[in-house]
Amino acid sequence: MIQYDEQHDYIVIGSGAGSMCAALRVAKAGKKVLLLEKSEWIGGTTARSGGVMWIPNNPFMKRDGVEDSAEQATRYLDALAEGQPPLRAGTPERRAAFIEEGPKMLQFLAEQGIRLNRVDYWPDYYDELPGGSKPGRTVVSELFNMKELGPWRKRFRKGFLPLPLMLQDALKMNRVKREWPARLMLLRFIGRLLGQVLTGKRFVSAGAALQGQLLKACLAAGVDVRTSMPVTELLTAEERVVGVRAGGHGGSLTFSSKLGVLVDAGGFARNQGLRDRYLPGTKTDWSNTVESDTGDLLEMMMTLGADTEGLGLLLGYQSMIPPGKEDDMIKPGAQKQGAAPHSIVVDQTGVRYLNEGGSYVAFVKNMMDRNAENPSSALPSWIIMDSQAVKKYGIAGIKKKATLQKWAESGYLKTADSPAALAVALNIDPSALSSTIERFNGMVDKQCDDDFARGKRAYDQWLGDPYNAPNASLGKLEVGPFYAVPVLPGDVSTLGGVVTDVHARVLTSGGGVIPGLYATGVAAASPFGQVYPGAGASIGPAYTFGYVAAGHALSTYT
Ligand SMILES: Cc1cc2nc3c(=O)[nH]c(=O)nc-3n(C[C@H](O)[C@H](O)[C@H](O)COP(=O)(O)OP(=O)(O)OC[C@H]3O[C@@H](n4cnc5c(N)ncnc54)[C@H](O)[C@@H]3O)c2cc1C
Repeated sequence: MIQYDEQHDYIVIGSGAGSMCAALRVAKAGKKVLLLEKSEWIGGTTARSGGVMWIPNNPFMKRDGVEDSAEQATRYLDALAEGQPPLRAGTPERRAAFIEEGPKMLQFLAEQGIRLNRVDYWPDYYDELPGGSKPGRTVVSELFNMKELGPWRKRFRKGFLPLPLMLQDALKMNRVKREWPARLMLLRFIGRLLGQVLTGKRFVSAGAALQGQLLKACLAAGVDVRTSMPVTELLTAEERVVGVRAGGHGGSLTFSSKLGVLVDAGGFARNQGLRDRYLPGTKTDWSNTVESDTGDLLEMMMTLGADTEGLGLLLGYQSMIPPGKEDDMIKPGAQKQGAAPHSIVVDQTGVRYLNEGGSYVAFVKNMMDRNAENPSSALPSWIIMDSQAVKKYGIAGIKKKATLQKWAESGYLKTADSPAALAVALNIDPSALSSTIERFNGMVDKQCDDDFARGKRAYDQWLGDPYNAPNASLGKLEVGPFYAVPVLPGDVSTLGGVVTDVHARVLTSGGGVIPGLYATGVAAASPFGQVYPGAGASIGPAYTFGYVAAGHALSTYT
């Protein structure tokens, strides 16, 4: 018999995406809920993130008259599943559960006073496929005043946009010089900043706003939230998970849970040992996740016999790490850099091998696959730009000549007067790089990338430069000097995890259920397999299956 120090109705491990949604649902049903967070900070990588949720057929689309339906979303996800190996976590049933439950989850949050909205235009990442949406299916939190958290504010994890500025507006800031709507947006932002000074409010945006709202609601509903409480063991009795052991330096305690245990403890992006095993050649230093994303629970669940899927996949985000940026909370993303006109990406033999304008997950997967086929050929790859690109877009957002000069002197930024000379600096066969650029320029002339269809999708064009005609994504590399920077397979978390069913219950490799054990977030394998359908396709399903897990536990074990 396990002797428990404390007894609870429901335990949630981790304070990331979905955990607080689940905790809130169970607490609102009148149950005693305990949320244990390993870190001293609440919110996980989710609080640090953009916080957008990909939820097809969401009520905000209906409100705005944007076309979508469960059938359309099913067609889209089915099309994405085609060509993938058979999936155990991304089954048609789980995709259907996601499509059905996502809008209900949003409805539940709205009833709890959580303020959300849709992003007006963020195309699905494969918008050209049947059922794909060009306006997109992305939902985001309204701004949140951190002061509403009272003393808990000091224990809340910092987000990447601690400003009174919505993420979709931040993405349009670079248009201020050219567009009146962007200028008006800037004025409104300045007004809000001044308003903050006068009122003492402190608004945050993106993931911090989402998680901040959830934390406030959980605390109000009586959820017992404890930080610096890493779970170290899942406790079982008669093959059912019935509680956990957790604790820090002060010693460990045992906690019982009548309704089951939900794992939302992130992935393993910060565990080099697990990376070496499942993602060889990649480094924790390239990750944008929180330091506590160390895969503790993955190993514990595997010990209980949990099946896993996709552990070799990253929720990749291609990155540049210029000198001085190594320790930045968020490494400079290279997505827009490579996808901008007058820029291409090549491997270490000078060959283009992917659509630079594709989704970040597809980009990094292509890099990893390329490198696996031909070791040491694509990690890093090179972003090649001509001087038009650098003049218009800078490098990692920097246009200042002195900084670029410093980067060149450090050897990070390579520059030369011609593609052939640049190739020599990169240790690439000059004729290979020259002919890659020549071929690309020829395809720009005819406005058709025969090799990778770059610029064909609404999404590729959304990523590019809206002022670059006729295609926002395509521009020739023809004006010297030419530049190159390395691009690495960075990430915003791992993508694989334990296999779960339609109720978010953790399954064994034989397909059986581990009773009492649920998982959501990137602790669980993605319902979409190797493909990332749109912006928010991590946090959207994480919230949805957190909501589903809570509902199942409530209906099964009470
Ligand atoms: C800059 C950035 C922007 C991003 N933007 C988006 C976006 O807009 N939309 C999107 O879908 N994805 C986005 N992502 C990716 C997304 O944030 C992650 O995939 C997602 O947040 C993972 O959620 P999670 O709940 O699984 O993990 P997390 O949010 O990391 O939460 C896991 C929590 O579990 C805790 N934990 C770990 N081990 C233990 C233990 N032993 N005991 C107790 N607690 C433990 C951790 O400390 C952590 O707080 C972004 C990521 C970054 C870095």
